[in-house]
Amino acid sequence: MNSDIILTGDRPTGRLHLGHYVGSLKRRVELQNSGKYKKIYIMIADAQALTDNADNINKVRSNISEVALDYLACGLNPEKSTIFVQSQIPQLCELSFYYMNLVTVSRLQRNPTVKNEIQMRGFKQSIPVGFFTYPISQAADITAFKANIVPVGEDQLPMIEQTREIVRSFNQIYAPVLVEPKAVLPENETCSRLPGLDGANKMSKSLGNCIYLSDSADEIKKKIQSMFTDPTHLRVEDPGHTENNPVFIYLDAFCRDEHFKEFWPEYDNLGELKAHYQRGGLGDSKVKKFLNEILQAELRPIREKREALQGDVPAIFEMLKKGSENAREVAANTLHEVKKAMGIDYFG
Ligand code: ATP
Ligand code: MG
Repeated sequence: MNSDIILTGDRPTGRLHLGHYVGSLKRRVELQNSGKYKKIYIMIADAQALTDNADNINKVRSNISEVALDYLACGLNPEKSTIFVQSQIPQLCELSFYYMNLVTVSRLQRNPTVKNEIQMRGFKQSIPVGFFTYPISQAADITAFKANIVPVGEDQLPMIEQTREIVRSFNQIYAPVLVEPKAVLPENETCSRLPGLDGANKMSKSLGNCIYLSDSADEIKKKIQSMFTDPTHLRVEDPGHTENNPVFIYLDAFCRDEHFKEFWPEYDNLGELKAHYQRGGLGDSKVKKFLNEILQAELRPIREKREALQGDVPAIFEMLKKGSENAREVAANTLHEVKKAMGIDYFG
């Protein structure tokens, strides 16, 4: 076992989708099962979800158990990983409050992910202050657990950079108590930013362009059938483009050579399939059928496990309660060190 500590999480703004799965969730399960890490914390970021859903508490509330079910269905195990709910750890708010003094407004304004999200959510000039400052609260989440490894999708890189800056300032001004984290992206580049079914944006709960891990076999099939492909590939004989073609992007993320043996023995690998499509003579419906076989095979066991677990929601909340108690203790220790370093532990 090494001394690495992992923290990562998701906003309970919807059930989890394929982007989460390839971008972060699958990796977390592998890291967890490797048994090499000192601690793994998985956070359901409900307080962060409220920063752009203040008037939609029911959405956030009801998705806490949905996200937890997705976690367990994918193989996260509360015996090995601490799974907790952000709002139940008040120390995170206190840490954020002190970190806010270490970040300028203009620095937050430069954050490209926040800029993009402001546009996606149509905030224009009415940006909630909490939303604007969520990169600071993310720094609190990461540093409270002294996490040095944060497995995330590409959109999170600016957040980790912001955290690193806060850690450096804090350690320099007060005392070296905080740990600088490192983002870990999926090895496959496509997986670090999986596009949505529309092909235009990243797959995102807030955009409704998702295949969810809990979708039925039928829903998955319908969604794949309605996917965009190459708009210049009108007739089967026409040469097609595989780049910027969401169906091929999903194949890049999910397809392995074994899938050809199992579902489409005419080809040996994705390279051969792409070459045929580019030459012309290969119809979109056949490629979609293949993608459907692959995704069904990948998602079936997850869905079945999820269905088995969802009958006992109280057990899910019990698990989250225990995880949150555990997390609170760790965060309280860090907060204590932080206040001591700042010299605001007046009464010992
Ligand atoms: P929301 O629309 O509410 O922001 P989301 O779909 O972006 O939801 P988050 O909960 O914000 O999901 O992200 C959780 C984790 O999943 C982060 O590490 C993020 O980088 C990763 N992730 C989200 N969407 C994708 C995607 N399309 N491809 C790869 N990784 C993703
Ligand atoms: Mg997001």
